[in-house]
Amino acid sequence: MNLIFLGPPGVGKGTLAGMAQERLGLVKISTGDILRSHIRKGDALGKLAQRYIEDGEFVPDSVIIDMVKDRLQEDDVKNGFILDGFPRTLVQANALSQAVNIDMVIDLELESELIIKRLSGRRVCVSCGGTFHLSLLADEKVCPTCWNALEQRKDDMPETIAHRLEVYEEQTAPLIEYYREKGNLVEVKVDGSIEENFSKLLGVLGINE
Ligand code: AMP
Repeated sequence: MNLIFLGPPGVGKGTLAGMAQERLGLVKISTGDILRSHIRKGDALGKLAQRYIEDGEFVPDSVIIDMVKDRLQEDDVKNGFILDGFPRTLVQANALSQAVNIDMVIDLELESELIIKRLSGRRVCVSCGGTFHLSLLADEKVCPTCWNALEQRKDDMPETIAHRLEVYEEQTAPLIEYYREKGNLVEVKVDGSIEENFSKLLGVLGINE
């Protein structure tokens, strides 16, 4: 099964995709995670991506499309994958449709006030890349999984959050209509706890818990 998780930044795509990856045996492909790992390595792609990401802008389509096409060539995607954070523009969606078949597009929905709360409280582990919300952390500076340091992403600072949401509305929201017309879009309101949201998600995938 090949899935796309669509939705604004901060809606919980990464968290739910991580849970779905384990439960369904699919591979999660997060373009944001791949870009951040290049930034950590300090290679050419990382250097290019860093300035776009810190400004809350999209990395150019051609760069992202090549990166995803390469990832989709790897062996582990053969049994199915979840795309988290890709596609984000119509150009990316068209390129994807020429490369692979997508079974279902899950549009995760949440009001902007809650999105802003989730993003501004988000902390990321500098080592394992795990993402956590302040409200669930015993120590807001320590990763509960690998005990390394947690930090706030520069693009989760208040001024950048507002800009990212504008860019989402302008460039990514049109994909909802694009996939609705293709007939494989399902919408899931993710306003509950992580467990409740995951259970709704399994429901739309037709999976019994
Ligand atoms: P994310 O972790 O998915 O929120 O992505 C973090 C940042 O990486 C985004 O705000 C963009 O700057 C960049 N990025 C991730 N995926 C894409 C994409 N599909 N197209 C363009 N930029 C992307």
